[in-house]
Amino acid sequence: STMEKTSHVVIVPSPGISHLIPIIEFAKHLVKLHDFHVICIIPTTETPSNTMKATLEALPATINHIFLPPVSFDDLPESTSTTTLVALAMTRSLPSLRDELKSLITATRLVALVVDHFGTDLFDVAKEFNLSPYVFIPVSAMTLSFAFYIQKLDKMVSCEYRDLREPIEIPGCIPVHGKDLVDAVEDRTSEVYRWFLDITKRYSSAKGIVVNTFMDMEAGALKAWAENDEPSKPPIYPIGPLTRAASIDPDDGSMSDCLTWLDNQPSGSVLFVSFGSGGTLSRAQLNELASGLEMSEQRFLWVLRSPNDESASATYLGVQSKQNPFDFLPKGFRERTKGRGLVISSWAPQVQVLCHGSTGGFLTHCGWNSILESVVNGVPLIAWPLFAEQKLNAVMLSEDIKVALRPKPNESGLVIRDEIARIVKELMEGEEGDKIDRRMKELKDAAAKALKEDGTSIQALGKLVLEWKNQMKC
Ligand code: UDP
Repeated sequence: STMEKTSHVVIVPSPGISHLIPIIEFAKHLVKLHDFHVICIIPTTETPSNTMKATLEALPATINHIFLPPVSFDDLPESTSTTTLVALAMTRSLPSLRDELKSLITATRLVALVVDHFGTDLFDVAKEFNLSPYVFIPVSAMTLSFAFYIQKLDKMVSCEYRDLREPIEIPGCIPVHGKDLVDAVEDRTSEVYRWFLDITKRYSSAKGIVVNTFMDMEAGALKAWAENDEPSKPPIYPIGPLTRAASIDPDDGSMSDCLTWLDNQPSGSVLFVSFGSGGTLSRAQLNELASGLEMSEQRFLWVLRSPNDESASATYLGVQSKQNPFDFLPKGFRERTKGRGLVISSWAPQVQVLCHGSTGGFLTHCGWNSILESVVNGVPLIAWPLFAEQKLNAVMLSEDIKVALRPKPNESGLVIRDEIARIVKELMEGEEGDKIDRRMKELKDAAAKALKEDGTSIQALGKLVLEWKNQMKC
């Protein structure tokens, strides 16, 4: 009978290491709180990386994983956007997900299907297998609220959003200019726009929405959600900040080198510069950034990636440039900044860097994981958004909760060296930087509180678990 079978929650992240990271943390919390098991069924676009495999294999026996066969993109033009690829990876994995569920359901009792924010097309299989559908939002509550609000906005507004004169008022959030919305809505005639509208529309058919954020960070958006009793709004569970614990791959010499370098720097003196797992700058922008860092005369640790003039998310799905990124630095840059600056190629042990005492600031592309990792370590930010929902995040950080400074680009969209030097100095030594730092330290304390046993996030997680327990009884 079903009573003897172990109960399983199925979680389906979209491809990309940064989508998997918070899902894994979520799974760990779930199995700690209750005796169900978690199965991560992971759509892929290529053979999973060793880092990804190692991360999954290190998990407790109560968290299993299955990689779905890589989907093929052979039919797509090379110019297809990252967002479209991630989306298609999910939809094209539907048949193989169905097969996996079919074989799982004979041996186990499946309770709920949690898909990440790009995966609501997979709700169709939830129905087939009689599983309750949930969405996991690995980004902000503001982004989630925007995803609901756009359903209305789409009907109210006929022009491109960037041409709107008035700022857009997402319920409970700081008003944002139409040019700062998620990049999927940049061109309303595009396929991506339709897709974004469709998958977000399906959020309202979820039984619940889990968000990796916490009350004190996004009180406005979360309260506005709770106060609004539109029937299309499922209950929301803010359970964050879920971030990785510091851990290091002992085989990786270059990673521990950068931590040793940090050990030798004064406390709070180093600006960490990184654009996430796949962010890239144009050649011209990379050049300005290098010169700006040099002019600032501050200490820095820069994770450098080869530039790309076409796409700001060029390496997101794992395609690494074959060119040596150091070839793109201005002539003599490394000699001139020697001792004060360290440039490393491609990847840093980011969590370790952010919790290191020498790190005093973080110039970030505003990926949500990076933001949360900075928050839990109390590191103030320079917001340098590149793609996806990062501009929304930058507006929230710099104008609403004021834990970041945001540099201004010139008319052609380039952030020039003088502006970079100014803002870096301001964050690391200026009065405004001091205020930002103090607010970030307060937010750090609030984050720790949210994750205590009686904290808002652990309470929300408890509620979700209780709901699943009750479902298992019927
Ligand atoms: N990351 C890292 N080292 C790097 C770059 C990224 O460890 O050099 C990790 C980072 O700590 C974070 C994730 O990769 O957990 C990036 O996620 P985020 O949401 O910030 O950005 P995305 O990669 O989705 O653009």
